[in-house]
Amino acid sequence: MVEDCNDPLAQAADLFCEEEMDTDKIEESVKEMLIAIGEDPDRQGLLKTPHRVAKSYEELLGGYRMDPRALINDAVFDVAYDEMVVIRDIEFYSLCEHHMLPFIGRVHVAYIPSDKVIGLSKIPRIVDLFSRRLQVQERMTRQIAEYIDVVLNPQGVAVVAEGLHMCMMLRGVMKHDARMTTSTMLGVFRNEISTRMEFMQNIGRGATSLHI
Ligand SMILES: [Zn+2]
Repeated sequence: MVEDCNDPLAQAADLFCEEEMDTDKIEESVKEMLIAIGEDPDRQGLLKTPHRVAKSYEELLGGYRMDPRALINDAVFDVAYDEMVVIRDIEFYSLCEHHMLPFIGRVHVAYIPSDKVIGLSKIPRIVDLFSRRLQVQERMTRQIAEYIDVVLNPQGVAVVAEGLHMCMMLRGVMKHDARMTTSTMLGVFRNEISTRMEFMQNIGRGATSLHI
């Protein structure tokens, strides 16, 4: 866990974890699950499954171990630019915290700088930071926006996420094409309708629709 609780970036990623994931424990648990399901964990096809599952969780849940401060090191620049910056169609992969099933989709991010901009490649990393953990889409959307707000102190930030949730598609209500849209608008995006409209038109125009 973080030592310095006053660091706003650490707060933005409030579950930052410095210890490595306990993959041995995950392997043991998966083996128990296989037995509970009624499977034989010793049959050939399943022998390495607990190990593979543990490895995939390391990747899918890697956000807990991305240092939110190191992430933006040397990537924030002083620039006299105050027009809207839009990064559209950033893919995300997450696991819903209620079922630990994937929800996947795209995130659109915009901000209007005050005097600082961030390296373009960092925005997808910020999306990974908050998506690669047990999440709900609403919170993920807000965290991405607040993180950028803290790092750049811009005139405003807007984040819109569109997600397909396996827990809705494959079980329960079985809605195979229900797409969830969430948004967080801060600063001028919240206060000025014209700014918000410009962003919404920008992401609506030719945005790739979700296909899986
Ligand atoms: Zn779920």
